[in-house]
Amino acid sequence: MKKKNEGIKCNYCGELFGKVAIKRHLEKCEVRKEKTQPGEEVYYWVQVQGYYQKEYCMYLDVSAKASLKDLDQFLRDRWLECCGHLSRFRIEGKIYDSDPDPDIMFGRNKSMKVKLNDVLYEGLEFIHEYDFGSTTVLKLKVISTKTGAKRKEKVILMARNLPPEFVCVECGRPAVQLCSCCIYKEDAFYCTECGEEHECGEDMMLPVVNSPRMGVCGYCGEKG
Ligand SMILES: [Zn+2]
Ligand SMILES: [Zn+2]
Ligand SMILES: [Zn+2]
Ligand SMILES: [Zn+2]
Repeated sequence: MKKKNEGIKCNYCGELFGKVAIKRHLEKCEVRKEKTQPGEEVYYWVQVQGYYQKEYCMYLDVSAKASLKDLDQFLRDRWLECCGHLSRFRIEGKIYDSDPDPDIMFGRNKSMKVKLNDVLYEGLEFIHEYDFGSTTVLKLKVISTKTGAKRKEKVILMARNLPPEFVCVECGRPAVQLCSCCIYKEDAFYCTECGEEHECGEDMMLPVVNSPRMGVCGYCGEKG
């Protein structure tokens, strides 16, 4: 069972907002403005959310000179990476693979070594898929184009949803883990003690994490 813990936190000022308000806030946030120097470099503001779990969302400020590979790596680091599965972007009917077929005859898909300003523009919606077995699908949207000074970070995480809170199905205390077997049939969140009693065994337990990949494959959350 899920306890409400709604809100998207601005990483600049720490305030909480809803999904509509956060976009307006990021435009106006005084702390962000102070940290951003004027300049000619182009940046995209990109909203990312779980395709099926829209409560998980991130707002990114990405250099237009970064590549799809850089964006893929960021999504893996924050939300996705369990055991090095393949991934791809779907942008306007074209597919950009993390590991495209090198055979020119069979390799119809493009590689991710393409600069964002060659494929993205304001208003564009596109898809990212990680793992073609137990796929986690993300929906991305370019919400704005900005200019600013050159900087070293390719991707800045401007805002992100608060971690959702779950309660143990047995005792009602905060849950720290879920059973990756049972989660598809029923609520399968457990506290540490009740998890030890669960029939599937501890090997099936995965940690509660702030990601649309929670409970899938061996996903244990952000590394480090
Ligand atoms: Zn703010
Ligand atoms: Zn995996
Ligand atoms: Zn419990
Ligand atoms: Zn189970």
